[in-house]
Amino acid sequence: MPGQHALLSPSAAHRWMHCTAAPRLEATAPDSESTYAQEGTLAHAYCAKKLKSFFGLDTKHEDKEIAELNAQYHNGEMDEYTETYKYIVLKKFNTARMATKDAQLLIETRLDFSDYVPEAFGTSDATIIADGLMEVIDFKYGKGVRVSAIDNEQMKIYALGAYLKHSFEYNIDRVRMTIVQPRIDNLSEFEMLVSDLLEWAENELRPKAVEAFSGKGEQNPGGWCQFCKVKCGCKALAEKCTTIAQENPTPGLISPKKMATDILPWLSNIKAWCTSVEDYALQQALAGVSYPGFKLVEGRSVRKITDSEAVAGLLYKEGYDPSEYMKPATLCGISDLEKLVGKKRFTVLCADYIIKPQGKPTLVPNEDKRQAYNTASDDFNDININ
Ligand code: SF4
Repeated sequence: MPGQHALLSPSAAHRWMHCTAAPRLEATAPDSESTYAQEGTLAHAYCAKKLKSFFGLDTKHEDKEIAELNAQYHNGEMDEYTETYKYIVLKKFNTARMATKDAQLLIETRLDFSDYVPEAFGTSDATIIADGLMEVIDFKYGKGVRVSAIDNEQMKIYALGAYLKHSFEYNIDRVRMTIVQPRIDNLSEFEMLVSDLLEWAENELRPKAVEAFSGKGEQNPGGWCQFCKVKCGCKALAEKCTTIAQENPTPGLISPKKMATDILPWLSNIKAWCTSVEDYALQQALAGVSYPGFKLVEGRSVRKITDSEAVAGLLYKEGYDPSEYMKPATLCGISDLEKLVGKKRFTVLCADYIIKPQGKPTLVPNEDKRQAYNTASDDFNDININ
């Protein structure tokens, strides 16, 4: 759930458990809330309001957030996806009530993890408590990165907080962590024993959290740098991205094995790092920072017509046919149309007119869920030539 954050925020746990220096370094960077975060806040407010309204609970807090952000971010797609979330949570709650009559559904519950993570707190979007199994459900409105619940540090911290809060009322021995990310049809679940969760909290979470909080943590670059606020200025990441070639000092060509172990796994990090450093350096230069050997120049621009109607009128008077100078109206892209009418409704209306052509071949790690691409050479693998 977006909003106020502790130094060791659960949502950044994957990062600070790998790079314990990150939280203190990030605390020096200015705080800015992106439009995506505001859109997420509004979607979360709708999720909570829909569930609370279903049970006749007070929704003043959600109504206030909705009033502040609605005009800017609300659309049909948001209604549809928050409805999907409500349906999933209610369905899970019904299942829990079949097993435990007095099962509870808690909406937007504040959780305290400070026994394990100094000064940390957070809000669980939905928690279902019943004998045996407790479930924490997290709604994600982003669609850029598919978030898995499997061994997800943030979810384990929420499960830990919920367990610490409710283990006195119920006999809980298993926890299920569920991520609902409806914009990309992602429903990810992960279940573990409470004993394993507590062991992880004691042996992995607490030591890493204490190290990160102390300010004596170590910088350790990796995939978790992607959303780090200081990635543009981080020396450890810069060193990693610029010395990869030097880790292969033998002259000659890089072998496929070296390529697979040393370079390909780092390529997306390097690309992201290059883009973010370029953007950051430009912003700094615009703010007056000088980089020796570099200067700011005006980028290339294209000419623009200031009054389309006036130009069209002049061309008409000159005797040109409108079909020669006016573009025909074109339909918006699928994403925009889905945003307008909602994904489900759009599918009902237009499924007969949508096709999905084969995508371009892309090299990805084996863990990727997509089926392997059939190359031309694969077609001849089973042919024996004598
Ligand atoms: S960019 Fe990466 S290595 Fe650097 S502080 Fe952030 S998480 Fe750590």
